[in-house]
Amino acid sequence: MRLLLSTVIIGFTLLFLASCGSSSDPSSAEETATDANTSAISQRLDKYINVRLEAPIDHLSENQQQMISLLIEAADIMDGLFSYEAYGNQDSLLNTVGDAGLKEYVKINYGPWDRLDNNEPFVKGVGSKPAGANFYPPDMSKAEFEQAELTDKASLYTFIRRNENGELISVPYHEMFAGEVQQTSILLKQASELAEDSDFKKYLELRSEALLTDEYQASDLAWMDVKNNAIDVVIGPIETYEDQLFGYKAAHEAYILIKDQEWSQRLAKYAQFLPQLQENLPVDDQYKQEKPGSDAELNAYDVVYYAGDCNAGSKTIAINLPNDEEVQLKKGTRRLQLKNAMRAKYDEILVPLSEVLIDPEQRQYITFDAFFANTMFHEVAHGLGIKNTIDGQSTVREALREHASALEEGKADVLGLYMVTQLHEAGGLEGDLKEFYTTFLASIFRSVRFGASSAHGKANMIRFSYFQEKGVFERDSEIGTYRVNYDQMQQAMNDLSHDILTLQGDGDYDGVAQLVAEKGKISPQLQADLDRLSEQSIPVDVTFEQ
Ligand code: ZN
Repeated sequence: MRLLLSTVIIGFTLLFLASCGSSSDPSSAEETATDANTSAISQRLDKYINVRLEAPIDHLSENQQQMISLLIEAADIMDGLFSYEAYGNQDSLLNTVGDAGLKEYVKINYGPWDRLDNNEPFVKGVGSKPAGANFYPPDMSKAEFEQAELTDKASLYTFIRRNENGELISVPYHEMFAGEVQQTSILLKQASELAEDSDFKKYLELRSEALLTDEYQASDLAWMDVKNNAIDVVIGPIETYEDQLFGYKAAHEAYILIKDQEWSQRLAKYAQFLPQLQENLPVDDQYKQEKPGSDAELNAYDVVYYAGDCNAGSKTIAINLPNDEEVQLKKGTRRLQLKNAMRAKYDEILVPLSEVLIDPEQRQYITFDAFFANTMFHEVAHGLGIKNTIDGQSTVREALREHASALEEGKADVLGLYMVTQLHEAGGLEGDLKEFYTTFLASIFRSVRFGASSAHGKANMIRFSYFQEKGVFERDSEIGTYRVNYDQMQQAMNDLSHDILTLQGDGDYDGVAQLVAEKGKISPQLQADLDRLSEQSIPVDVTFEQ
């Protein structure tokens, strides 16, 4: 992978956030913010570093550049819809907030709750965040929802509201947002008229129609056929993470992307190894009977624009879509690696973090190529292993309930590393294994900081404890750095893969609960080390100047 590095051509300009404590307006009534409050907000803002998001567009035709402007307009509408879904009327909230830093933090979080701090409220007088965000009435109980006789109450694309009599009703997105989706639909239609690639044109036309009816399947199918266009756009109500009450409601977002043709060609070759890798998994045969999707599309992109859900709190660096299982069965999924966003996190977080926590002699092995590969193979590794329990009774997801996501993310991390190791041994991947392993350890520290409310955060805590017990790394108590024992890595990686795949295949809810309880927490020692990162103002995530 080392040779790929020379193709990185994107520059990131650092724009540090203006100091927020100095910009308060003393005339505002809300400006009773004490120094303590102001410094609390500046501490929260310090968790993010603002990076200018740049992508090469010079090679695009005039039509394509014009198309991007239209798509950005459409994305901005999605941004507004997500604000409503996450909080409600964000403008009126912003009007009550005088302090510039506070305003900034509301915008980053799309509301008054800190997404990197278990949704802790940070605006005075604001209560805790409703689990169902603004998708449901705040006073609705789960039981009331379950008893309500509403045909499309569990639909991905309806709000639940109350009528004048206080009874629950459902309101489809295309009715709630009638004006906005009309406008977005027109913009996508206009963009489609500029499209040179016929598959992309068709997708834009169908997406334009889908927004008006909330029937997305035809456009999802068409998106799977988009293979050759230089521009791509993911737009509409897509992921359900924002609805933490039931996980039913999809939130609006948009990504505007430019394909990196050169990296994409190189990624294409890895998908073909999947069947072989599945066969070699370090687990008993009964846990690897499923066939991994052979239609795995893997491409690299630079992000031009993030809007809505994907722009809230920590930023996505890889996408695996569509979510519609029927489309997945027919056509598979597309995996999109967001290269410039990864680069930003690598430069601004991973490298500075490793200068604090990784052994000085091993810092030379922290590389962007290894970070890119580990992240990429994480995505691909979701396709390995097992989706249904071996007794055939249910899906792994159903059996493991609230622990399913953390274990699945943990699986993808460790099997991603397993793939790296296997491909490296087969001569299909360049670079020194020490780079992949050392960068992997640094990534654990990065992800643990997302906290226990994030599936990724929890998965990394478990792996940290597991690896520590297996002697994969040791801590130098003098200087507080961690050193990888490369000889121990493969055994521990195989053991953890074996354990996770077995727990998943058995649908062993109690076993997973025990693993999470024992290992899914941060030891006082680790916490002290993470605190050193905060003290040195090493950010947890990035925001994009776009
Ligand atoms: Zn994942």
